[in-house]
Amino acid sequence: MSTNNQDDRLILKPGRDKPVRQRHPWIYSGAIQHTPAAFQDGDIVPVYSAKGKWLACGYFNSASQIRVRLLSWQEDEPIDAAFWRKKLESAIAMRSALVDQSQTDTYRLVNGESDFLPGLIVDRYGPFLVLQAGTLGIDRRKADLAQLLLDLTGLQGVIERSELSSRNKEGLESASGLLAGVAPDGPIEVSELGMRYQVDLFRGQKTGFYTDQRENRRRVASYCREAKVLNAFSYTGAFAVQALAAGAQHVVNIDSSVQALTLAETNLADNGFDPDQQAELIAGDVFQVLRDWSRAGEPRFDVIILDPPKFAHSQRGLQRALRGYKEINLLALRLLRPNGILTTFSCSGLVSSDLFQKVIFGAATDANRSLQIVERLHQGVDHPVAINFPEGEYLKGLICRVL
Ligand code: SAH
Repeated sequence: MSTNNQDDRLILKPGRDKPVRQRHPWIYSGAIQHTPAAFQDGDIVPVYSAKGKWLACGYFNSASQIRVRLLSWQEDEPIDAAFWRKKLESAIAMRSALVDQSQTDTYRLVNGESDFLPGLIVDRYGPFLVLQAGTLGIDRRKADLAQLLLDLTGLQGVIERSELSSRNKEGLESASGLLAGVAPDGPIEVSELGMRYQVDLFRGQKTGFYTDQRENRRRVASYCREAKVLNAFSYTGAFAVQALAAGAQHVVNIDSSVQALTLAETNLADNGFDPDQQAELIAGDVFQVLRDWSRAGEPRFDVIILDPPKFAHSQRGLQRALRGYKEINLLALRLLRPNGILTTFSCSGLVSSDLFQKVIFGAATDANRSLQIVERLHQGVDHPVAINFPEGEYLKGLICRVL
């Protein structure tokens, strides 16, 4: 790698090496002075400072604004099968240590950049793994990675669900199907915190289940004893199941996806709850349903959970997203009983915790309610954030008591 031939080196512009030295995993096209013509997309390339010092290496994609995703900062480390195995082993070991596997067999096994495997997401669902290749560098290697994952975990199959819109920016189309081993022939049952859930690995949202909320479901449930709960943006009802398990009186679930609500009904029943008596499932737009209720002044809830999808997809869309967060929170506040609990989330990486708190403050002011933050919530331990990659932090939540 350290030959004197300049044309096997990607060279940065002067003064652009600091983030690389700080181990930020991305190199944007604008930081690059020279790219050898021989580099093929997906190749592992060495990155040098303008002064000719080796800095790091990573995989290359000429089609992406993020030209290189860095893999190693150790000059003598080859990026070979042993490298990928070592990184995967480290990610797997972390989950074995931190996730209580007697209660939970669904969690994120590999969290991309934050597990030092840029572009690679792997979620475990019982005996299966679901892989998302977010970049061309991973897409090229996905069959080998899938086989390695099976070897390391002893699980039955790896299914691909690479349907991220961000793949466009890498010059890739969506891809899905079986990558290694065998696939289930329908939805499978997984467990989380001792409860059972049906997950459709081929048709569910994202990779099938929102594992990032696991610990938060437990926290929120602890406020739900004997409560009338509203679970807005319920998906397949995991917050509802935990709330009922903790003694909630009744949980109303709203989601726009009928398919998700059908699974929610099954999940409630499978965990021993009566989907008609103890719950209600409403297919609709949360904004519209809450506006209608708020106008009618009914019903009233003791606990409201707001877990909307990502509203902010770009800086340009940020203001609109903030208005969306404010509106649902304002409506929710109007529907809470005195001393009620508002649990509110944002999974938009572009909305910082501070900004999110300001939005909730704005909603409280407009609703003319006093609010106490009693807990701050984050993505679970299986979704770590590498300190050199703050972009990896996306989920934030507040549990508030509303006076
Ligand atoms: N709370 C869920 C995850 C929510 S993901 C869980 O714990 O599993 C966001 C959900 O919001 C998705 O299920 C999606 O179908 C739904 N959704 C998106 N926009 C919506 C809207 N305007 N009204 C109702 N549901 C919506």
